[in-house]
Amino acid sequence: MTTNPFISLDRSYRNYIDGSFAEGSSGRIDVINPATGDVIARVPETDASEVDRAVAAARRAQDGWERLPAITRAGYLRQISAKVREHRLALADVIVKEQGKVPALAQVEVDFTADYIDYMAEWARRIEGEVLTSDRPNETMLLLRKPVGVVAGILPWNFPFFLIARKMAPALVTGNSIVIKPSEETPINAYIFAELVAQTDLPKGVFNLIGGYGRTAGEALVAHPGVDLITFTGSVGTGSHIMQVAGRNLTRVNLELGGKAPAIVLKDADLDLAATAIFNSRVINTGQVCNCAERVYVAREVHDELVGKLKVLFESTRYGDPSVDEDLDMGPLVNAAGLQKVAEAVDLARKQGATVVTGGKVADRGTGFHYEPTLICGATADMDIMRRETFGPVLPVQKVESLEEAIALANDSDYGLTSSIYTRDLNSALKAARELKFGETYINRENFEAMQGFHAGRRKSGIGGADGKHGLYEFTETHVVYIKGE
Ligand code: NAD
Repeated sequence: MTTNPFISLDRSYRNYIDGSFAEGSSGRIDVINPATGDVIARVPETDASEVDRAVAAARRAQDGWERLPAITRAGYLRQISAKVREHRLALADVIVKEQGKVPALAQVEVDFTADYIDYMAEWARRIEGEVLTSDRPNETMLLLRKPVGVVAGILPWNFPFFLIARKMAPALVTGNSIVIKPSEETPINAYIFAELVAQTDLPKGVFNLIGGYGRTAGEALVAHPGVDLITFTGSVGTGSHIMQVAGRNLTRVNLELGGKAPAIVLKDADLDLAATAIFNSRVINTGQVCNCAERVYVAREVHDELVGKLKVLFESTRYGDPSVDEDLDMGPLVNAAGLQKVAEAVDLARKQGATVVTGGKVADRGTGFHYEPTLICGATADMDIMRRETFGPVLPVQKVESLEEAIALANDSDYGLTSSIYTRDLNSALKAARELKFGETYINRENFEAMQGFHAGRRKSGIGGADGKHGLYEFTETHVVYIKGE
């Protein structure tokens, strides 16, 4: 196996503040390969004074950055995407080792990240205001779109590299500066990203990166009065806490939170297509994806056939250590806590009366955090497995009598991120599109979302959204100008 120059216990990983690298505070955080449990790197903790420095640097840089033509800002973004492409293989390998993704998916993540940065750079000539009609004679009204100012981007571990771009690219092209804090579970890729940014001509202070734990570095960033917008992706609990802390300074928030995506399968569905799509979505990234099918509502007439097809697929899942075996459907869960959470969720489902069709226990795969791909049937609406986000390779199935019942059960959830329906009937698909109360609905397919779409959750799945024109404008504020003529 070739060694990766980006990963070593002897390598130093440093915060990137004001165009320079800084050691962080004295504490160190171990980064663990979840497939083996081995420590693969040690990264710095960050204290509040470092957070102060990062926010101050972003503040100093923002004004000059905003004054540059947007197309010039886009040019810097393209330098960054070129650097990502130059190191695409080693970056993907970092994601395999620190997050446990299978190599093919890690490569998709890296390549998509470069494409996403370019896509957001393309918006430079399309950031548009409006000319409004005035009630007064000889008056012109302009609605301008301006950057919010200093953005704080706080990231989860499940798509750690892509999420940097999803926050940074729209923030920078619209004229904001940014401070990014990656997850303490998966920080290596983010430190390397900062090293690549340092190799471009991006003006200092526009992009800053600090590591550290959520309760220390994250909390200090969120509470900082110098931050104008917090864009956070992570769990509902942390999102709710961040919103409360942000409330002290009335800092704007953009929250991309958890999901419990329902997949509805009707009796006229193509069952092979439905089973394959739902299975793939459930095991991709070991079930740790916010918009993958987490609960199935299937018509009584085709219940047994669908469960049979899913069982075959679940039992054929190839899983293990993705840095040893490249050809896998899934790797480990991200950490011991994630493994315990999934195991407890399945045990509770059993206690509450559901039936485990296949899987259902911690997998015998050596020392890492592996759980068996698990299919559950006989689930009912009151069971926790149908209500709480599991974030693992576990799929519960519930039988329904009608499309109306399926839609009502799907909507009866704290979460409202994504949903899907499998049917050959246009009227059923259109009814679902009208009546499902979610930010996204996939018809005859599962995730992923497109960069030109708008990824946004209803209810506790979030506030605001990301991607496309609407995601871009989350990083702007309006400014109306009244021009009174003679
Ligand atoms: P998490 O909430 O545990 O952590 C996310 C980030 O918040 C980390 O960087 C962490 O250090 C930081 N943090 C923790 N406490 C903090 C605090 N008090 N102040 C500031 N920052 C703090 O989430 P996670 O386990 O990393 O990610 C998994 C969750 O993310 C799942 O619920 C998943 O559904 C969600 N997610 C949502 C989307 C989406 O687009 N809606 C995408 C990916 C993941």
